[in-house]
Amino acid sequence: MAWATITKSAADRASANMPDPERTRAEFSWDDARAMLDGLPGGGLNIAHEALDRHVAAGHGDQIAIRWLGKDGTRRDLSYASLAADAARFANVLVSNGVKPGERVYGLMGRVPELYAAALGTLKAGMTFTPLFAAFGPEPIKARMEIGEGNVLVTTESLYRKKVAAWREEVPSLRLVLIVDDGDAPEGCVALKPAMAAASDKFDTARTTEDDMALIHFTSGTTGRPKGAVHVHGAVMSHVATGRFALDLKPGDIYWCTADPGWVTGTSYGIISPLVNRVTMIVDEAEFDLERWYGILQEEKVQVWYTAPTAIRMMMRAGKEAAEPFDFSSLRFMASVGEPLNPEGVVWGKEVFGRPFHDNWWQTETGGIMIANTAAMDIRPGSMGMPLPGIKAGIVSRDDGGIEECKPGEIGELALRPGWPSMMRAYLHEQARYDKCFVGDWYLTGDLAMKDKDGYFWFVGRADDLIKSSGHLIGPFEVESALIEHDAVAEAAVIGIPDETAGEVVKAYVALKPGFEPSEELEREIRGHARKKLGPAVAPREIVFRKQLPKTRSGKIMRRLLKARELGLPEGDISTLESDEK
Ligand code: AMP
Repeated sequence: MAWATITKSAADRASANMPDPERTRAEFSWDDARAMLDGLPGGGLNIAHEALDRHVAAGHGDQIAIRWLGKDGTRRDLSYASLAADAARFANVLVSNGVKPGERVYGLMGRVPELYAAALGTLKAGMTFTPLFAAFGPEPIKARMEIGEGNVLVTTESLYRKKVAAWREEVPSLRLVLIVDDGDAPEGCVALKPAMAAASDKFDTARTTEDDMALIHFTSGTTGRPKGAVHVHGAVMSHVATGRFALDLKPGDIYWCTADPGWVTGTSYGIISPLVNRVTMIVDEAEFDLERWYGILQEEKVQVWYTAPTAIRMMMRAGKEAAEPFDFSSLRFMASVGEPLNPEGVVWGKEVFGRPFHDNWWQTETGGIMIANTAAMDIRPGSMGMPLPGIKAGIVSRDDGGIEECKPGEIGELALRPGWPSMMRAYLHEQARYDKCFVGDWYLTGDLAMKDKDGYFWFVGRADDLIKSSGHLIGPFEVESALIEHDAVAEAAVIGIPDETAGEVVKAYVALKPGFEPSEELEREIRGHARKKLGPAVAPREIVFRKQLPKTRSGKIMRRLLKARELGLPEGDISTLESDEK
C-alpha cells in the first residue's frame, strides 16, 4: 500500500532548528559547523573540549550532562562540571600510568557512568578511544584488540574474567587494564576508582588538530577480519551540525539515545553530539523493557528520543493499549536509525506518541548522520529522507569500471561525495580495502537504494552479504570462522534471514567432517560453541546441516544462493557454481 505523506504544521516548521531545509542545504558550508564550536584556546580542535570544557567555561557547569538510571532503580546526576572533572581525572590516570598520546584505549562495559569519563578523558589526553560491545564473546573482543593494537582496556571485573583474562598474555600491546567496579582489581589490573580519586581534576587538553585520530570504530566485513574505521577530532563538526539538523537538539533539551555505546551510534549520538550540543542525556543502564521505557519517557520528560527499528517493532507488538496509561506530552522529536524503519512504525509513532519517527541513515564509516527526515520536512513513510546540509548523496551504477548516476526511480548503490568532516580516514592497516570504497568521485556505501523524483531516498537492501540483526552489523566471515573451530565442522556458510522483530537473524549452514552425523544434539552443541566464542548477539540462532555447500569454481561459498533458496527467490546467475548443496 502507498502510505500518505505526513505533513508538518507551520508551528512545527517554525520551531525547528532548520525551518527551511532547502535553503540551508543551498547555503551551508562546513565552515558554518566549525563556527558552532569554540576550538581550543590558542588553536586546535579537541572533541572533549567541545563536549565539556567550553560549556563549563561559559557558565553551564551546573547543568546536568548525564542523568544515569541504574538497573536497580538508582539515579545519578552528573553535571557538566563534574563530568569535565572526571574526564580530567581519567586523563591524569592514563598519563600517570605511562600511556602516551596517540595510544589506544578500549572501553568494554555496559552503560555505566565511568564509560563517559573514560571516553572523554581519553580524547582530552590526545589518545584514541575504541568502544567495544559488552555482549561480544571473547573472540570478537580479542580480534579487535589485536587489529587495533590496543594499549589500555577499561572494563568491569566480570567482563575481564569472562572475556579477556584467558587471552590477555597473547596480546602484548595491552599493557594496562583498568577495572571500574568498587573494591580490589584482579591481579595484573588497576582499580580505576581509587586511581581517579587520587588524580587531579585539572588536565591541559592535548592540542589536537582536526586531522588527529580520535576514535576507532570496528565494523564487520563480508570477508576477512573486522575493519577498524579511523575517525578524527574534526568529526565533531559533523556531530555538532547533525545533532542540530537531524535530531533537532537544542541546548538544555532532555535527550535519550537508546543505542549501546559499544557501537558507533552510541558514541556519536550517545556521547559526542548531545554533549557538544549541551543537552541533558538520559542514560539507562537496563536493557529494553516496555514499561520501563514508557516510564522513562514520561518521568524524565524526554523531549528528543533517538531509537531503533527493532525497539519500535517490540513496542508495536505490545499494542497501543500498553502505552495508553503514559503521558508522552514532553516528546518533541523522535528519530530512528540502524535498519530499515517500516512505514507502519513511522505512522504508529504518530498515533501513540503524537509524533512520527523520523528515519535517518548513516554507517560506521560516515561517522555521522548523512540522510535524514528532519523536523521541518514532510515525511514519506518508508523513506530515509534527504541528504543533510553539506552532504551530496547519489544513486550510482558501476559500468566497465566507470560509474554513473542512476535516474530517479532506478535502484543502484547509495554513494556519497567525500569531504564531510566525520568521514573515516582509513581502515586500520587495510589500505586496499579502504581504497576499494572509492570509485571516481564517490564513496560507495555498500547499500542499495533509490532516489525518487522529489529527492527522497529509499533503502532497498545491502549490496553485500552483511547481516543486520537488532541493529548490529554482523560479518558472516567472523561467524563462519568461529563455527569451523568446532571439531565436527568442515565448512560453514552464514546468512541473515528475515525476522519480524530483529529485522534479520543469523542462520548457519554447516557441512560436517567425515565421521560426524547430523543430530539435534550436535546442532545444540555447535550453537553453544558459537555462543561461547562470539556472544549471543552474534552467534547463529539456527544451524542446519548440509552434505555440501554451494561454491564457486574458485571455492567461494555462495551465500547469496543460500539466501535466495531460503527466501524462495530466483537463484540469479549461477554460472560460476561448482559444487552444490543438493
Ligand atoms: P553500521 O555501520 O553498523 O552503523 O551499519 C550501517 C548499515 O546499517 C548501513 O550501511 C545500512 O545497511 C544499515 N542502516 C543504517 N541506517 C539505516 C536506515 N535508516 N535504513 C536502512 N538501513 C539502515
